[in-house]
Amino acid sequence: MKKMICLFITLIFLFSFCNRSPYVEANRSYKKQTKAFSKALRKPSDDSLHTAASWACTTNFNMRKPNFVIIHHTAQNSCDQTLKTFTTVKTQVSAHYVICKDGTVHHMLNDYLRAWHGGVGKWGNNTDINSSSIGIEIDNNGVDVFTEEQLVSLVKLLGSLKRTHGVPAANFIGHSDIAPTRKVDPNIHFPWKRLADNGYGLWWNDTTGVQLPENFNHLQAFRIVGYDIKDSAAVIGAFKRKYVQQESKILNEADKKVLYALYQKHL
Ligand SMILES: [Zn+2]
Repeated sequence: MKKMICLFITLIFLFSFCNRSPYVEANRSYKKQTKAFSKALRKPSDDSLHTAASWACTTNFNMRKPNFVIIHHTAQNSCDQTLKTFTTVKTQVSAHYVICKDGTVHHMLNDYLRAWHGGVGKWGNNTDINSSSIGIEIDNNGVDVFTEEQLVSLVKLLGSLKRTHGVPAANFIGHSDIAPTRKVDPNIHFPWKRLADNGYGLWWNDTTGVQLPENFNHLQAFRIVGYDIKDSAAVIGAFKRKYVQQESKILNEADKKVLYALYQKHL
C-alpha cells in the first residue's frame, strides 16, 4: 500500500513537472517587478523629495496612456524563439504583443508599462518612443510575406488599442520610421495601405495630376511627416520601402509626388 502511495505521489510530481510552463520563472519575475512598481507609485517620486516641501496628494489623476503603436517584424525563426528572447533577462528586449504565423496573439506586458522595443530612435521631437508606445512584434524572419492570419489578428488588435487608448491614425508607425539608420522592419511586404484603409497609419492619395511646388523641399517634407532627417539616404530608404514598396535610396520625381501627397496629410 505504501509503495502504491509513493508511486502515486511520484506520478503526480512527474506529471506536474512535465506540464510546467516554460515561462514560470518569467511570470514570477513579472509579478515581483509589478509589485515593486505598485509600491513605488504609492509615494512621491524619489527626485521630488529634494525639491518639494510636502507631499499633498491630489485626488484627480489616472494612468498615463500610450499614444503610439510601433510595428515590428521579429527577424527570428519562430514565435517560440521570440517568446524565449523576451522572457530571458540577458537579451534586454521585449514587446507588449507578439503575433504568431497562425494568428495567435501573445500579450506579454500590460499596455501601461514600458516595453523595450524601440531602442534609440526619434519621431518628430519624441526621443523616448518606448515611454509613449505599444510595441507589436510580428513573427517573421525578415524576408517572408506576412500571413493573412497575422494581418487579421493585427487589425483586430490595432482596433482594440485605438479604442482603448485613443491612438491617432498618424501614430501607427513602423520601427524603421523611428530608426531608419538601424532598422528595416516591418519588411517590404508589410501592407501599410491596407492598414491605413482601416484607420491605422496615413497613406497618400492618388498623385495623378499632382504638380510639385517649385520650392518643394523633400527633406522638410520628411521632417513634417515625422522622420529624423539627419541621414537623408536612410530616410529615403525607409520611405520607399514603406510607401513605394521598393528597396532603393533614390528619390525620383514620382516618389517626390508621393511624399508631397503624404506631407499634405500631416499639415
Ligand atoms: Zn523592430
